[in-house]
Amino acid sequence: MLSTRTVISADSAGVIFIRYLIRFATGDVMCCGGDERGEFVHNDCIFCKIAAKEIPVKIIYEDDHVLAFPDINPMAPVHILVIPKQHFDSLLTVKPEEMPIVAQVMAALPAVAEKAGVTGEGFRIVVNTGGNGGQTVNHLHWHLLGGRIMSWPPG
Ligand code: AMP
Ligand code: ZN
Repeated sequence: MLSTRTVISADSAGVIFIRYLIRFATGDVMCCGGDERGEFVHNDCIFCKIAAKEIPVKIIYEDDHVLAFPDINPMAPVHILVIPKQHFDSLLTVKPEEMPIVAQVMAALPAVAEKAGVTGEGFRIVVNTGGNGGQTVNHLHWHLLGGRIMSWPPG
């Protein structure tokens, strides 16, 4: 093991979250996290690493709970990912009492769209969920797509 880092944060309800970032000599980073209710998750999640600034990205928007950065494989001239810093596998694993985090991400979307310069012409928000939904990264995220006309129905 090369180093460990502890990141402590709190959500708007005052729930304390503790994440431990463990960096191995191989370069691998593991993120383990829990909250004061004793629940514990272990993951090796790329978006958790981005949220923890372990992997650098161009930050489009950031607040205490939300981070937005460009998709590495853009599907439109503007393609930004908007994530909660807290790990959720998908929309399906957000508990009712955790829904304020979802609201915080949704509330940030207009500011992200503004920074991306797409509020005038419009944009699309997508949350791929599960296999049929096309979800490939199991950390809840919103795609903000713009800069061209979006077709409907989506593929
Ligand atoms: P989804 O397929 O809906 O789960 O979306 C995951 C998205 O994450 C894809 O559009 C990927 O291109 C994108 N992605 C994966 N790794 C990275 C990364 N390191 N930085 C930015 N975007 C990424
Ligand atoms: Zn994650």
